[in-house]
Amino acid sequence: MELQVINQYTRDDQKIHIYSQAFLNNLKAVKTLCKPETKLCAVIKANGYGHGIREIVKILKQGQVDFFAVANVYEAAYIADIVGEAKILVLEPVHTSYSPEAVRLCAAKGIHCAIVDVEALKFVQDCLKDSNDILNVHIKVETGMGRCGIDAKKAAQLIKKIQTLKNLRLAGVYTHFSTAAEKNLTYAEYQLQNFQTFLSSQSLLACKDVIIHSANSAAMLNMPQAHFDMVRCGIALFGWVEHPDLLKIKLEPAMKFEVPVVQLNHYKKGQPIGYGRTFSAWRDIVGAIVPIGYADNYWRVYSNNAFMKVGDKFAQVIGRVSMDKTIIDVTDIPDVKVGQYVTVIDNDPQSLCSVYRQAEMADTICHEVLTSLPARALRIIH
Ligand SMILES: *Cc1c(COP(=O)(O)O)cnc(C)c1O
Repeated sequence: MELQVINQYTRDDQKIHIYSQAFLNNLKAVKTLCKPETKLCAVIKANGYGHGIREIVKILKQGQVDFFAVANVYEAAYIADIVGEAKILVLEPVHTSYSPEAVRLCAAKGIHCAIVDVEALKFVQDCLKDSNDILNVHIKVETGMGRCGIDAKKAAQLIKKIQTLKNLRLAGVYTHFSTAAEKNLTYAEYQLQNFQTFLSSQSLLACKDVIIHSANSAAMLNMPQAHFDMVRCGIALFGWVEHPDLLKIKLEPAMKFEVPVVQLNHYKKGQPIGYGRTFSAWRDIVGAIVPIGYADNYWRVYSNNAFMKVGDKFAQVIGRVSMDKTIIDVTDIPDVKVGQYVTVIDNDPQSLCSVYRQAEMADTICHEVLTSLPARALRIIH
């Protein structure tokens, strides 16, 4: 399958700094929580959690990564040439609307794919019947997540069926937790119990060449009994977690996002600022206009609410965030100049513009803040 490259321009005035060493340190820190023989699958779907998927692969493969997990076959094709020794796992189950070329590409390149139904098995076998290539498949078992797994009975049938198909091999069995990031792990334990029951019923724990996996970052951190043969770690590698207060290892945020001041505006006391006049200068105010807005996923909920960092001081967003522009109050910050870069998302977890704070303000999770990083911003690898 040829990947169609869409021409996308880059804005070099929006700088996303990527800190390689932070990624490699996070990888090492995560590994200290796992047994030496536990494989590590770096989850880098959604354009590497917004950071830039090819950049992240190039960094992480300098460390010990066994698998890179992506959302779909398009992402797999996009990174297939640079993963080196590591393998790729496509998390979205193969479905019959895949093009046969996509299936053939996965088989030819040794890309592992999730499977959850017998129709998909037949479809894959049909796509590959004229070749000697073998597709490595992972069966996703439903244990309580209620998304795209297959129930235990059908999973058992799939495993049997795979053994009869010449172009398929059972390479993995996995499940996914819906509440591993919550402080109360009762439900996650229940899911784990369901998974273990299934594994025992199929004598899978004894199979050396079938990779058993279940843990995302949260379960990797909080449920060592859920590690099995491999952990699938996403958010923690980027340096963020759901409960930083519970963290037993040190993680470093690996990204900082900056934009320049493009104009300084002197507002008189009483003057309204921005759409809807939601903010009026309560004193004479110096506003700095920065070229980022909701079109860059700098969300409108940040209006009159979020902070940006100017030097080592914080400046509050004043007025509504508009499509391409936001105004911050720099009245009390000396010597702010046009052209000076300000931090929109900080790599310091304590910062007023950390991913934690942005997520809290937008009533969401770190994952969504990160995957909303604008694709057109320049990535600078340190
Ligand atoms: C996204 C995803 C992960 C990684 O989740 P994090 O919380 O970022 O660690 C693991 N497994 C599956 C199936 C996923 O979809």
